[in-house]
Amino acid sequence: MIDASRPIRVRFAPSPTGYLHVGGGRTALYNWLFARRYGGTFILRSDDTDRERSTDEFAADIIESMRWLGLDWDEGIEVGGPQPTYHQSERFARYQAVAHQLLADGRAYYSFASPEQLDTFRKEAQAAGLPPAYDGRFRVDADEAARRIAAGERAPIRFAVERPGVTEFADLVRGDMRFEHVQVDDFVILRSDGSPTYHLASTVDDVDFDISHVVRGEDLLSSTPKHILLTEAMGSARATYAHLPLLRGPDGAKLSKRHGHTSINSYRDAGFLAEALRNYLAILSWSPGDDEEIVSLADMADRFELTDVSKNPAVFDVTKLEWMNGVYIRELSGDGFVGRVRALVEADLGRELAGDDVRTLEEILPHVQERAKVLTEIPEQVRFLFGDITYDETSWDKVMRKDGADVAVAGASEALDQLSEWSIEAVEGALRAMLETHELSARKGLQPLRVAVTGSSISPPLFESIAALGRDRTLERLSAASAKLAEAM
Ligand code: GLU
Repeated sequence: MIDASRPIRVRFAPSPTGYLHVGGGRTALYNWLFARRYGGTFILRSDDTDRERSTDEFAADIIESMRWLGLDWDEGIEVGGPQPTYHQSERFARYQAVAHQLLADGRAYYSFASPEQLDTFRKEAQAAGLPPAYDGRFRVDADEAARRIAAGERAPIRFAVERPGVTEFADLVRGDMRFEHVQVDDFVILRSDGSPTYHLASTVDDVDFDISHVVRGEDLLSSTPKHILLTEAMGSARATYAHLPLLRGPDGAKLSKRHGHTSINSYRDAGFLAEALRNYLAILSWSPGDDEEIVSLADMADRFELTDVSKNPAVFDVTKLEWMNGVYIRELSGDGFVGRVRALVEADLGRELAGDDVRTLEEILPHVQERAKVLTEIPEQVRFLFGDITYDETSWDKVMRKDGADVAVAGASEALDQLSEWSIEAVEGALRAMLETHELSARKGLQPLRVAVTGSSISPPLFESIAALGRDRTLERLSAASAKLAEAM
């Protein structure tokens, strides 16, 4: 189903005017998967024509986020390739040359229409219920244009869209698309200051880099007829296009900061694993089939098809991403998990762990790994093992003011003090016997112990926490809690 007459070459073309967005991450991933699926070439270029809004910080973030996601590119910025540069900001001379060639070929013209004329035209068209696409009605003949330019006047160059006319293409995601040219502007390709518009720069790059498939967001769908017209006016074969649906929040609105984090780096910083985010981005608009959701990158690259991408809006749901992240956390080996978490815990404590502390961390982490959703939630949960206890006031008020809290704490103290062996099973056995003796439900009897020992009603599993903390420190904390309870009486 893939046109085999042309080598597969795809590109991801972010503008460094913001951090890499999750929507951009999905576009990059789909390009990458398509290239890997068909043994093609994946190119990363920088659409940095907007010098005012582009920054080095954003450019660096895009590269770092791509690498973090594991999306390597075969050609382009940083890695190089047959082109001398993959930065649009360094290709202005080429864009100008193409614009002037189109001018010479009669496919483009200097436009002297004033902003007021264009504005009036648009308003009148709208009032008459016609498409407000500028149709070139103020175009002057070539001789007059040449005279005015020679006399020093400056003017943008517009592409002359053939009228009447229609541009059709088969979008791999959206199916047959048809644009009547009344809907298509005589669009500017080169501004009067000599800078290229997005349409010109993007199309010239796609032509020069021999891009076979343009895979990008649906917001650019209405640009595509312009790009096809330009490509063909340059005498080149058009690419195949695939437009990916936009991402929406769970409320159906376009995904924005209002819905929470939108940049790839904010998910990394919030403790998401690259493999989980990548998997989630993959299934936003594509499914490997059979309701399968957890798919490795290699497996995706074996099965990905652009024609299987859905054209329905994709909902970015952080709750689902958290679930998926938890699945990936559980898939890490024990050592792998410790490796990822240890630095976070050390940063939280403000010191490096050594000796017994490392053993304690290794002892508790398997029980944390079973339930964690994001890595960054972990330091707080294990903090109680590595220093003095601090009580979370809300937990204390909610749990310790209830009947039976004092009985449970005192009972636990007695039961654990007498234990001959110190293990998770022994701790659990002693505490369950204590509950029975005092006729306490698990809920009523164990929550106070959790607060007394860990300081919070949210902690790793209780028996495991107590076992890892050790007998001496557990008994100290139980007696401190008893004293605090007695004070409050
Ligand atoms: N640079 C454009 C953007 O960031 C994408 C260009 C394209 O894919 O054609 O929206």
